[in-house]
Amino acid sequence: MSGRDDTHDPALVSWVHGAEPGSDFPIQNLPLGIFSETKGRRRPGVAIGDYILDLAAIADLLDEEWRADLEQPVLNAWLARGPHKHRALRQRLSELLGDERYRDDVEPHLIGQSEVRMHVPCLIGDYSDFYVGIHHATNVGRQFRPDNPLLPNYKYIPIGYHGRASSVRASGEPVTRPAGQRKPPEARAPEYGPSRRLDYELELGLWIGQGNRLGEPIPISEADDHIAGWCLLNDWSARDLQAWEYQPLGPFLAKSFLTSVSPWVITSEALAPFRVPLPPRAEGDPEPLDYLQSERDGAFAIQLEVTLSTAAMRDRGIAPQVLSRGTASAAMYWSAAQIVTHHASNGCNLQPGDLIGTGTLSTDSDEGLGSLLEISRGGKAPIDLPSGETRSFLEDGDEVTLRAWCEAEGAVRIGFGECVGRVLAA
Ligand code: CA
Repeated sequence: MSGRDDTHDPALVSWVHGAEPGSDFPIQNLPLGIFSETKGRRRPGVAIGDYILDLAAIADLLDEEWRADLEQPVLNAWLARGPHKHRALRQRLSELLGDERYRDDVEPHLIGQSEVRMHVPCLIGDYSDFYVGIHHATNVGRQFRPDNPLLPNYKYIPIGYHGRASSVRASGEPVTRPAGQRKPPEARAPEYGPSRRLDYELELGLWIGQGNRLGEPIPISEADDHIAGWCLLNDWSARDLQAWEYQPLGPFLAKSFLTSVSPWVITSEALAPFRVPLPPRAEGDPEPLDYLQSERDGAFAIQLEVTLSTAAMRDRGIAPQVLSRGTASAAMYWSAAQIVTHHASNGCNLQPGDLIGTGTLSTDSDEGLGSLLEISRGGKAPIDLPSGETRSFLEDGDEVTLRAWCEAEGAVRIGFGECVGRVLAA
C-alpha cells in the first residue's frame, strides 16, 4: 500500500480550468482511462478537471520506458507494471499539470471530457463478483430465511462467483431489458419473457495490476500491491430470472446481460489519504483465518450515492431522486486485500486487467441500501417519486447513476466520476 507523498499535498493546484478543489478530478486524483474522439483511435488519458490529457500526445515528456504501454488501446500492460512505476507516473503527471512551466507544452493536448467517448479501460480476461456487503447479504437472506439470513460460511469466507467478462461495458451503455425464464411463485411452470424485476446493484470494482502465477497464492501482506485501482460497478440484475435459475450453481443469465463500470481507474496511489482502519468485527464474530489477516490491512473512506431519473421526471425537468447514500467501508465485511488474497488462495491466477466486484454495498440504515430489491423489500414496498410515479423495480426509460467520492481531513476531495445506465425496452 502506497503512502502519502507530495502529490497529495492539499496546497497543490493545477493550472487546468475546472480542476479546482471540489471537482471530481483535482490534481490530487489523476485517474487513468481509455478514450477516443469521433474518428480517433482508443488511447490512454488522465482526467484533470473537465479535461482529458492525451498521454500518447505528450509521450516525449514521459519516461521513455513507459511509452509503449501508454500508447496501447487498453491499460493492461501499464497496470501490470506495479506500484513503483505507477507512483513515478503520478509524480510526473502532478509536475506537468501543476507547474506553469509545462503549460505551453501540455495545454494543446487537453481535450474536453464532453467531446470524447470513454471505454472500458482494460481488456478484461476475467471478471469475478464477490458478496462482501454484509448488510446486503443479510437483507437479501432475510427475504428467503427470516430467522437465519446469513449462511454459516459468510463470516469465514469471502463469497464470490465468476461473472461474465464479455458483457462488461463502460458507463453510458444502455441496458436492454433482458428476457429469460421466470416462474412466479403461484405459477405451475416457468415462462420465457422480458424481466419484470430488473434491478441495479451498487458496487465498487477493483482493477488487478500485477498478476500472480498459476499455483502461487498472493499473501495478504502483498495483496494491495496487486490492486492497481478502483471503479464504480453496477451489476444489473434480473431478480425474477435470478430467483428461478440460481439453485444450485448461483447467478448466471440474471447477471450476464450487462455489467457497467465507471471508466476512470482511480489509482491505489490516489486513495492513500483516505485509508481508514478496518471496521471492527461485531462481538462474537469469528476472527478471519490466518491467511486473511494482516495488521497492515485497512479500508477506504469512500462515499457512495445512487440516483434515479425516470423518463417522466426528465420530461418535466424534475431532478434525479437520491435512492441511497452511504459509506463503503461501513458496508464491507471483507477488505479489498482479503478479497484478492482469497481469490488467489487456491493458486488461481489473477491477471492484469482482471475486474473484481465487491458485491452490493448497503449500509445498515435504510438510507444506504444498494439495490431496489432491498429498498422496495422485494417489491412489497414501492417507493414514491417526485413525479407521482412509484417504483419497485426499474421501468423502461429509467436511468440509474452511481457516484463515489473520497473525503478526509487534510486531503483534497477526489471523485470517481459516474456510472450511468438507462433501461431500454426488451
Ligand atoms: Ca453483485
